[in-house]
Amino acid sequence: MASAGSPDQFPAEGLPEIAFLGRSNVGKSSLINALVGRKLAFTSNTPGRTQTLNFFRVNGLYNFVDLPGYGYAEVSKDRLQEWKQLIERYLLRRRTFVLAILLLDARRGWMERDLELKRWLELQDRRFLVIAAKMDKLKTQSEQRRVLDSIRKEGVEPVLFSAMTGRGVREIWQAIPKILESP
Ligand code: GDP
Repeated sequence: MASAGSPDQFPAEGLPEIAFLGRSNVGKSSLINALVGRKLAFTSNTPGRTQTLNFFRVNGLYNFVDLPGYGYAEVSKDRLQEWKQLIERYLLRRRTFVLAILLLDARRGWMERDLELKRWLELQDRRFLVIAAKMDKLKTQSEQRRVLDSIRKEGVEPVLFSAMTGRGVREIWQAIPKILESP
């Protein structure tokens, strides 16, 4: 629908929006593509490239919004400031924003900026769903269990996902209306 580098480029508010958040290179684009079953979002090996919000029409119920990843932008204070302004403007003011999908790299679990974001979403009383991405990188059951336990320590139940194997796609589609309908 649109690729916005600044708030004045956001498209008009319409359908409810599901926003995808996570560190650069965590696999947001791959998740979006896996959920819709085709290549909507561009994946890349170069972290921190997209500094735009990308709005996608997905079905007649929601739109998806791919937010620029965090982490790598922090090499420059100016870039970080720009990122914060753009993201906050969206998350604070967008009336059609209904759900955040927060991706964690399954190999790392919670990192500092992920936790900051989670706490901020909680403070703002926002609904969010946590995804443990790239699960295929964890080869053994015990590694998988360890990561799951560490993510649960923050009081959330993540959906385990892999864009490589398709694990978790159905669970995420099932979780979305459940969260949106919960009181
Ligand atoms: P984004 O920057 O968060 O949008 O991340 P991308 O979707 O572009 O993915 C970053 C890199 O991780 C790419 O090289 C992807 O191929 C790779 N990747 C993404 N998801 C997975 C996954 O589930 N498993 C594995 N093994 N690699 C993945």
